Amino acid sequence: MLEISIIKCLTDNYSYLIKDNNTDLIGIVDPSDFETVDNQIRTKYKKLDFILNTHHHQDHIGGNAELKKKYNSKIVASKIDEDKIPNIDYKVVEGDIFKFGDTKFEILFIPGHTKGHIAFYSKLEKTVFTGDTLFSLGCGRIFEGTYNQMYNSLNKLKKLPSDTKIFCGHEYTKKNIEFCMKYDFNNKYLVNKLNWINLQLQSKKPTLPTTLAEEIKMNIFLRCNIPSLKKDLKMEKASDEEIFKKLRDLKDQF
Ligand code: ZN
Ligand code: FE
Repeated sequence: MLEISIIKCLTDNYSYLIKDNNTDLIGIVDPSDFETVDNQIRTKYKKLDFILNTHHHQDHIGGNAELKKKYNSKIVASKIDEDKIPNIDYKVVEGDIFKFGDTKFEILFIPGHTKGHIAFYSKLEKTVFTGDTLFSLGCGRIFEGTYNQMYNSLNKLKKLPSDTKIFCGHEYTKKNIEFCMKYDFNNKYLVNKLNWINLQLQSKKPTLPTTLAEEIKMNIFLRCNIPSLKKDLKMEKASDEEIFKKLRDLKDQF
């Protein structure tokens, strides 16, 4: 069993402290800053075996150096990020299996936000850490990759089992649903979801994890193939990928 604690970092980042219960291994996914995550690590576990990075942006690796120094942790990150993330111990690529004790994480290569972006997926735990590629009700900005890469990466994630829990890098859900409501205005699921999001945020709780089933129903970026959405966008004849590109551009200005 994998135990996951959500740690809120910086303004809207999430780091995830993980424990493999069978072997007592401890890891952290995307430590944004040392102080915040170490507060939890030193009180809860007093050790940190692994640091898992989804991509090289500072708000996902900010705690790496100090954590590694203090706990002698091993860093697991994308081979493509080897020049951007210092001191990677395990450089991983698509299809690799990273054994975190009894929890096996499959590495999914999901470029677009950055060139080397990866996700950590455990089939058994029905859990995926998606960094800044798939958010709840949104997707990451395309900084280094292409629209085509991002589109394919989202479709790759979309093919995981629908009960997969999604842990992403930021609390952007509220802003994301406002965008979904503007352009997918006939989607009947969004109103209830907005109410729930507001309640969560008011009580200072995260809106995560979400599930793939929920995202497929509501995340506009996973709905580029839906004829009624194409119609609402007045783009009936457009390909799914053209819809994606249009939505990503609109979101950049939103
Ligand atoms: Zn990022
Ligand atoms: Fe980020």
